[in-house]
Amino acid sequence: MIRMRLILLIVSALSASVVFAAGGVVKSPTGVAPDRYVYYPGTEALKKDEIRLIACGTGLPAARRDQAATCFLAEIGNGDKFLFDIGTGSMTNVAALMIPYDFLDKVFLTHLHTDHWGDLAALWAGGWTAGRTKPLQVWGPAGATPEMGTAYAVEHFLKAYNWDATTRNFFLSAEPGKITVKEFDYKAVNAVVYEKNGVTIRSLPAIHAGDGPVSFILEYAGLKVVIGGDTFPNRWYIEHASNADLAIHETFLTPTDLVRLYGQSPAQAIAVGTQIHTSPQAFGKVMSTIKPRHAVGYHFFNEQATHDHVLLGIRQVYSGPLSLAVDNMVWNISKDAIVERMIVSPDQAWAVNGPNKPPAPPAPGSIPDPISDFIKSGRWQPAEAAQAQMVDKFKKDHGLK
Ligand SMILES: [Zn+2]
Ligand SMILES: [Zn+2]
Repeated sequence: MIRMRLILLIVSALSASVVFAAGGVVKSPTGVAPDRYVYYPGTEALKKDEIRLIACGTGLPAARRDQAATCFLAEIGNGDKFLFDIGTGSMTNVAALMIPYDFLDKVFLTHLHTDHWGDLAALWAGGWTAGRTKPLQVWGPAGATPEMGTAYAVEHFLKAYNWDATTRNFFLSAEPGKITVKEFDYKAVNAVVYEKNGVTIRSLPAIHAGDGPVSFILEYAGLKVVIGGDTFPNRWYIEHASNADLAIHETFLTPTDLVRLYGQSPAQAIAVGTQIHTSPQAFGKVMSTIKPRHAVGYHFFNEQATHDHVLLGIRQVYSGPLSLAVDNMVWNISKDAIVERMIVSPDQAWAVNGPNKPPAPPAPGSIPDPISDFIKSGRWQPAEAAQAQMVDKFKKDHGLK
């Protein structure tokens, strides 16, 4: 039933150039279907004035196979790519897009709950081993105090992963293992946090669990995409997300389903579902007020048992264009149309090389070997003997000493 929503939504603002992405005529038995319901990653060039927005995670902290936690990837017609949140489990969806990791070096965090940055570790180390040539760059809000901010979080993230980094640094260049942080004031309203190559990204305060969370507005080529972080509906979003082409905002499970399916107490469910998150009715009110070209709700386990409850709540208040996001949903956004499709991608995609060569690993002897003589003394020689012929041939083939 959920898949019924694969039916494409074509939304056009006053445009005669609506492209119907499904429903064409198949002209011969050996021909191809004229239009597609799906997007195969890496097979379509983006137009200069287009944005492709991909949901790589739309679920909840207890990530599940069907839905990772929050992550949206914005691919811009000028070639830039931005990750908005990198929640737990989302890297599997990011990896399936087969985008060189060098192009996935910019991450904007709405806040520091694990369901919004829990897979930074996977992007950091995974991208490092799979061809990223430069440090990751992370933008995120400062906290009410320094230790509640993004810079503190990343500094201590790197401390937590010290063993990981130290051991990798022996074989790989340390450069791609670095993370630079650009922290900004979470209270600043519609403040520019990034501006380059025609892309502007702004930040809005959000009301969620504690001070610090934000939402982002991305503007490019006269298009406006709003990536709402966790929040109770707030006046800053209402004011600055108006005229959005695509307005993403969380919509949470109904309190009834939080009790029924998530095991929460009624008191917890009503507090979580209506005070620090956005209920379906409240989401509907936000969208019926700002009237985006297309609205996207996310941040709930979207399945047969929940979908209709969320949708009915929203439809009490909002009747406009709407997607209730699941992982691997994609929107192509242009002045002419907003087209929603689903991604079809392999489960076993390898990383794809980018144009840049990774920096050279450290010269032998330049940094201490993290394996001690004692541990080395335990190497079992029959294993060396068993692989010796294969190793010799490989070295010979590749001109290695
Ligand atoms: Zn949160
Ligand atoms: Zn969340």
